[in-house]
Amino acid sequence: MLGPIDLHTHSSVSDGTETPSQLVRAAVTAGLGAIAITDHDSTAGWTEAFGAASGTGLTVVPGMELSTQVGWRSVHLLAYLFDPENSGLVTETARIRESRLRRAEHIVERISADYDLTWDDVLAQSGEGSTLGRPHIADALVARGHVPNRSAAFESILHPRAGYFEPHYAPDPLKAVELVVAAGGVPVLAHPGTRGRDAVIPEDRLAVLVRAGLFGLEIDHRENTTSGRTRLTELAAKFDLATTGSSDYHGDGKPNRLAENSTAPEVYERLIARGTGSRPYTG
Ligand code: AMP
Ligand code: ZN
Ligand code: FE
Ligand code: FE
Repeated sequence: MLGPIDLHTHSSVSDGTETPSQLVRAAVTAGLGAIAITDHDSTAGWTEAFGAASGTGLTVVPGMELSTQVGWRSVHLLAYLFDPENSGLVTETARIRESRLRRAEHIVERISADYDLTWDDVLAQSGEGSTLGRPHIADALVARGHVPNRSAAFESILHPRAGYFEPHYAPDPLKAVELVVAAGGVPVLAHPGTRGRDAVIPEDRLAVLVRAGLFGLEIDHRENTTSGRTRLTELAAKFDLATTGSSDYHGDGKPNRLAENSTAPEVYERLIARGTGSRPYTG
């Protein structure tokens, strides 16, 4: 592997601003060795990403970022190299996407009582069949001129405290890990040390996930706090978990740049060896 390895990126199949082809081209231009395409609750970008990588030398690792929750808190699980046709995962992700859609409609309904915003505005910001989320509502609010950019929307109108928010359905992290493992995939907890999320995975809960087949923790991620990283590093050593680093690139949707954090080649090799449901594609 010649360039950096970035195992967490989003395309317009979820809430990234670039199509899978544009994402792959951006990775090639940035000199990356491998990226994982990890759209929220969807594998719909895999085929296009593989096609775009053809002839470039870039490796594309098929993946997804699964939405899960513990109580009202959202927990993200990265999943790699699973079988995209596994019925358990297909059913669960369809259920999550459907709930995301209804939830987005409700949020827009509430916002539209106070701001000039329609459901069509939101649809205009999302690709056909893409996993809908607050980022698309944010983009619609930007297009209407209510906020200057996506991040500002998250800090104001879309913030849970603003009163328009509602959660969507998501499985427990244990169920998600079990589904990924059953589909031949490799599960890694995404940014588990962000502000406010530190309390979500206490040691005993993590132990349960490890027993179910959790492979690693995404420690080098810009949203993990310094104290969070320290704690995660201790936990990774204690449970013999792999540690990854990645950008969580969303195109122009977030300030995160490709390969601003990356994963060590040894960890990457172990991850590739562990997955049995699908293979990485080297173009
Ligand atoms: P949702 O899952 O619909 O509640 O929306 C939260 C998601 O928005 C998270 O996965 C974030 O990664 C994503 N997101 C994308 N762009 C931004 C941004 N500029 N600020 C905050 N979150 C963002
Ligand atoms: Zn996202
Ligand atoms: Fe995430
Ligand atoms: Fe992400």
